[in-house]
Formats: sequence, C-alpha cells, structure tokens
Amino acid sequence: MADIIDGKALAAKVLAGTAEDVRAIVSAGGQPPGLAVILVGNDPASEVYVGRKIAQCRKAGIRSIEHRLPAETGQEVVLALIDELNADPLVHGILVQLPLPRHIDAARVLDRIDPEKDVDGFHPVNVGRLSTGTGGLVPCTPLGVMLLLDSVIDDYRGLNVVVIGKSNIVGKPVSMLLLEREATVTVTHIETRDLPDIARKADVIVAAAGAPQLVRGYWVKPGAVVIDVGITRVVDHDGNTRIVGDCATHELDHAKAVTPVPGGVGPMTIACLLSNTVLAAKRAAVA
Ligand code: NAD
Repeated sequence: MADIIDGKALAAKVLAGTAEDVRAIVSAGGQPPGLAVILVGNDPASEVYVGRKIAQCRKAGIRSIEHRLPAETGQEVVLALIDELNADPLVHGILVQLPLPRHIDAARVLDRIDPEKDVDGFHPVNVGRLSTGTGGLVPCTPLGVMLLLDSVIDDYRGLNVVVIGKSNIVGKPVSMLLLEREATVTVTHIETRDLPDIARKADVIVAAAGAPQLVRGYWVKPGAVVIDVGITRVVDHDGNTRIVGDCATHELDHAKAVTPVPGGVGPMTIACLLSNTVLAAKRAAVA
C-alpha cells in the first residue's frame, strides 16, 4: 500500500509554528501580523474560502481585516483600497480573493499590491524573484506542495518530476521550486502528447489539472510519489456533492506515497497563507 501523506496533520504543524511565531512577535513588543482580505461580490465558493482563512487567522493570533465589497464595485475603488492598505503599517499581507467580477481587470488589481505584502505571491515581482531564486513571497499552494513532498523526499537532485498543468498559480511556480532543488522537471498540459508515457518515467508527479481522476494507475511507476492538487466538485447519482482529485488514488497502491483529496494539498494552502503573512510581517519589521 502507498503511504498516505496527511496534509491535515502537516497543516496543523505549520499553523502551530505560525501561532508560536506570532506569540514571539507580540511578546517582544511588536504588532501582531495583519492580513487584509478583499472580497468583491458574493461568489459562494469565495465566501467559504474567505471564511476559512479568517477563522484560521484568528486561531493563529493574526489580525484579519475584512473588506467585503458589493459585486458592482468599480475597479478604481478596489485600486484605491489597495493603495490604502499598501500604506497601512499594521497590514502586512493583502489578499484579493479570486475570481473578481468580470468588469474588474484582475491583473491590474494584483499588480497594485505592494510586492512585500503580496502573500499570495502572484505579483510579477514575486514571480520574477521565484524564477530567479531570489527569495520573494511564494504562492501558497506550491509552497504547500513542497512541504508535503519534503515530508517524504530528502534529496531532489536528479529526480524526474512531471508537473501536470502549467497555470500561474500552481503548475509554473511549483516547477520553479522543484528546479531550485535541482530536480529535472517536465511541465505538461492539455496539449501534451503521450502524457501517460511521460508520467510513467516520473519519480514524482504533481497533478494540478482540475481533471478528475486523470492520473490512472498505469501512469505511475512503482515507488513514485504523487501529489494531487486537483479539486473538482462532482454530483453523485444520489445527488450528493463530493470533491474529487486529479488522481485515481484507488489505483495507486504501487506508489510510494500519495496525497488524499480532500485532506492533502487543500489544508496546506491556508496554512502557507498564514506563514507567508508572518514572514511578510517579520521582513517589514527589519526593513
Ligand atoms: P487552471 O485551469 O488554471 O490550469 C489547469 C492546467 O491543467 C492547464 O495548464 C491545462 O492545460 C492543464 N490541463 C487541464 N486538463 C488537462 C488534461 N486533461 N491533461 C493534461 N493537462 C490538463 O487550473 P489551476 O488553477 O492551476 O488549478 C488546477 C487544479 O488544482 C484545479 O482542480 C483547482 O481547483 C486545484 N487547486 C487546488 C488548490 C488547493 O488548495 N488544493 C489550489 C489551487 C488550485
């Protein structure tokens, strides 16, 4: 049987470490780290995600500042709010919950965030720092993927890693992080030919396609490590909704280790958002 990498347990450890860091900052006389969350509109999934992030901030002692704006809010209003938060010394992290309503240009909004407060790591400056290995804020899901991998891999040098998906928020940044560790990374996508053959050569597969159970047992070589980033909501015959990942996990007994969905990458993403906020606060304190 493949080992199941327990994302919930690892996320709990990361959150405990973050809470300890916050206590240390406050007991040394510093301000608690502050995370501003901007939610425009009332997309139900976004409401749930923002609610979870705020709840975890509270638990860790991070001050969260919510800005819930109606769906019809103009782009200039959102940009002006970001300017205000950029200038506020009590705000160390700024998160704009995506997707934004269609009349707002998400790239313009994300570009307006001070890169030092860009805890999602989506600002072009942080993308550049990541690709040059120069220490910016790293996107939360890829950071979580690396921590999960670190729990089962000591040395990445020369490992063949196949990343499925080339998005800016998962596939590309996780590829950069793996290249930094000297892995040999193949980034694949919807147009990739012979994907099962490519995947079968991998020591590590990171599946971030959003294609339910795409990665079948015969795609995975014995002893490989498989990280399943995918989250797709599917409705069963009986009308119940459940979350399905990108991997047919029940066919992966021959893998070395796999992440479950749910309970794998998902919990790590929020934990890494909080640790990025504390990192941004620490950097601001010494800047
Ligand atoms: P995206 O739609 O932006 O990108 C998907 C990528 O996968 C694209 O590059 C596409 O070419 C590729 N792809 C799609 N279908 C494919 C197929 N059949 N074969 C090969 N490649 C294929 O998606 P994203 O934002 O990167 O998210 C990917 C998945 O990860 C989604 O299910 C998303 O919900 C999930 N996700 C999870 C977390 C988390 O916290 N667990 C965070 C972010 C994204």
